[in-house]
Amino acid sequence: MRTQVCIIGGGPSGLLLSQLLHLKGIDTVLLERQSREYVLGRIRAGVLEHGFAKLMREARCGDRMDREGEIHDGFFIAHGGGMDRVDLHKHTGGSSVMVYGQTELTRDLYEARDRMQGVVIHNAEDVLPHELLSVAPHVTYRDGDEVVRIDCDYVIGADGFHGVSRKSIPKDVLREYEKVYPFGWLGVLSRTKPVSLELIYARNERGFALCSLRSQVLSRYYIQVPLTDTVGQWSDDAFWQELKHRLPAEVAARLVTGASIEKSIAPLRSFVAEPMRYGNLFLAGDAAHIVPPTGARGLNTAGSDIHYLYQALVAHYQRGDDAGLHGYSAQALARVWKAQRFSWWLTTLLHTFPDSSAYDHKLQQAELAYLFSSAQALASLAENYVGLPY
Ligand SMILES: Cc1cc2nc3c(=O)[nH]c(=O)nc-3n(C[C@H](O)[C@H](O)[C@H](O)COP(=O)(O)OP(=O)(O)OC[C@H]3O[C@@H](n4cnc5c(N)ncnc54)[C@H](O)[C@@H]3O)c2cc1C
Repeated sequence: MRTQVCIIGGGPSGLLLSQLLHLKGIDTVLLERQSREYVLGRIRAGVLEHGFAKLMREARCGDRMDREGEIHDGFFIAHGGGMDRVDLHKHTGGSSVMVYGQTELTRDLYEARDRMQGVVIHNAEDVLPHELLSVAPHVTYRDGDEVVRIDCDYVIGADGFHGVSRKSIPKDVLREYEKVYPFGWLGVLSRTKPVSLELIYARNERGFALCSLRSQVLSRYYIQVPLTDTVGQWSDDAFWQELKHRLPAEVAARLVTGASIEKSIAPLRSFVAEPMRYGNLFLAGDAAHIVPPTGARGLNTAGSDIHYLYQALVAHYQRGDDAGLHGYSAQALARVWKAQRFSWWLTTLLHTFPDSSAYDHKLQQAELAYLFSSAQALASLAENYVGLPY
């Protein structure tokens, strides 16, 4: 089989890139290790920057998002028993974010690929990129007993944190930066009315909590837990009780509880791999970097990689201009590191660290007091939250 761009990974990054390239007449083959049902069963991100929403529209996948997604002009930070609002609209001169679940946008992207007869191969086993430094790289995968070879111009590694693409870059070329946080987030999805129309990030001595939502009938809540906790230790009742303890009393009083329809623990980690290009392999999204979910940068940073790669590949195929491909790694990493900084800052501000001292607590309080007393500090938070320009 021959294609122009072989994409490894059928998450949001790979799907969005293949859809955008297809619309420009660039041929792609996408290889996904899992079944479609499995990919669509994953509950992950839910807050989209306006730049990501724009890319979805450009990919002609924005109709349902624009119909069913919710525009949020602000969010709350609960601290010291009360709540302050961050007015995104006011502090960014009119920007906002879109609340629309990753599961739904992935479904929209798969449907678009089907409509356009895009080549998406599921259950591709033992995917391996080869000869990445040559002008004729290829990718192999196993389909039952048969090994299939795909010849291409470029390989895109969009196969997430545990994928094969990053591992194909020699150790003496790749530099990895990592920070592991000493806690995780226990998340519960429930078919209940959200406690607030806008997200509430709560700082509490007992640990961080987040009240999020997917729609007006589907709530997503999280609490910070030690890394040693397991989902089995947390009954629905215990989860709701602990969440109430971490919220201001008037919010806890109106929290509607119900059976969980999904419950999972995600460890918090920051990670960046450099460079994001090796020969004719380009990494994108979680394959190259991950952030803690605080501040919703993960999916959105994958979106900026896709934007840069899309522009670069279109410039190459339509105008023979390779400047974008040459500059991709540096350009993408410049924005990645700003997202890393923002996620680290918000995580540090809002979580309770097991080894923190009374002094550290006072600093967190002072930081929050400063934030809500300074239009400049709020503008900086808001600018990062709605997404820095591409
Ligand atoms: C539990 C959890 C909660 C999250 N919550 C948030 C959030 O609230 N906000 C936020 O912004 N971000 C969140 N994120 C991060 C966000 O979901 C990711 O940034 C986003 O999924 C990145 O998309 P991606 O396409 O780059 O990678 P993925 O979505 O990981 O997609 C990679 C795809 O590659 C496939 N794959 C892997 N290995 C291979 C292989 N060898 N061959 C072929 N295919 C392969 C995988 O099956 C997968 O479908 C969360 C992530 C997790 C894990």
